Amino acid sequence: MEKLLVVSALKDDCYQKNAAHFLERHLEDVKSGAEKFAQMSGAKILFLLPEGAKAEGLDNVRYGICTPTGDNPYSCAQQLKGNLPRPMIQDDYIAEYDENEVNVITVESAYWLAKGTDIKHITVNGEVKEIAMGTKLNEVVDAADAKAVLVGGLKGRLILPEQLGEYEVSTDFLYDSVDVIPKSACIVDTLIKHLGNTWNYSCGKCVVCREGTLQFKTICEEMVAGKAKPADIDLLKEVGELIKEGSYCPYGQNWPQAVIDAITLFADEFDAHIKRKTCPANVCFQKGATYVILPDKCTGCTDCIDECDEMAIEGKKGFIHMIDQDMCESCGKCVEACDEEAIVIVEGKMPKLPKKLTRVGKF
Ligand code: SF4
Ligand code: SF4
Ligand code: SF4
Repeated sequence: MEKLLVVSALKDDCYQKNAAHFLERHLEDVKSGAEKFAQMSGAKILFLLPEGAKAEGLDNVRYGICTPTGDNPYSCAQQLKGNLPRPMIQDDYIAEYDENEVNVITVESAYWLAKGTDIKHITVNGEVKEIAMGTKLNEVVDAADAKAVLVGGLKGRLILPEQLGEYEVSTDFLYDSVDVIPKSACIVDTLIKHLGNTWNYSCGKCVVCREGTLQFKTICEEMVAGKAKPADIDLLKEVGELIKEGSYCPYGQNWPQAVIDAITLFADEFDAHIKRKTCPANVCFQKGATYVILPDKCTGCTDCIDECDEMAIEGKKGFIHMIDQDMCESCGKCVEACDEEAIVIVEGKMPKLPKKLTRVGKF
């Protein structure tokens, strides 16, 4: 059987632009590294590029979609045949295309073969930087405004800004990208968007990975809709570990870790969403949510009044407080102030509420 060396530029995820950078800035080095590798194995070369990528100066080019399995020979062979990019990971498995045995080298590995591994290309907040191996990540990224940092994209880790100095740039996939999550962001809201992308990139070969991304996103969406339960946190952690163990390829074995990191590092923020139906970053619960004060829970302590910048809460000591819906901006700040958990978001039918100031216990 003839040999085919596929030079794959399909490994970028939505946080990474590294392959595009290699094609635009280092194409000659990539070609030279690929030729070196092809000579060693006696293979002919085929470039597998993302749709729309420039292919000037390349002879044998095909196009596919970016996927976490973009370096897997079987997955690449499937893309060449027009099928879904699903991988095979057994060592003794031979991927075939057009009566050729398929080997794969990424554009990054081809570059390293030509130039050595002194430099790592990292997408930092959407922009590709060339960084010396061994550099600590706190020298790579400005984390002054960071609440957290996502290293390694969709299958990476979520860390605190002060942990950046513990990470030294190497050839590991964790250093493919670094993304700052700003202090103003809500971690739950950020996770929902992240999980939407995680789902998009899951190939669907195994149910735990594919369904897991969707179920995790749904649970996080319930958190910002005020419908989640405290037990959901343990559920995410336990199921996350099961997905890591039960997934077929490194993508499913890694993506749940960022979710587990988020839950562990920002437990208070998740707690606020689930138990108090409020968002400390003032991002969630704002879009037209109806906040009311439950008359049977309000003790008339007045603590909520000072929290409301809109002066939408009417009340005085010992009286059931009321929210004026015309003035309320649905910011959720008053929820944090109420130790009685008397302020809630209402969906659908409104509970019976007092129309005028009423003494606690008299409604
Ligand atoms: S773990 Fe996810 S990406 Fe990997 S084979 Fe299974 S479904 Fe596909
Ligand atoms: S903080 Fe809670 S208990 Fe106190 S007045 Fe406001 S709604 Fe009532
Ligand atoms: S949700 Fe915001 S605007 Fe509405 S009553 Fe509470 S603090 Fe005031």
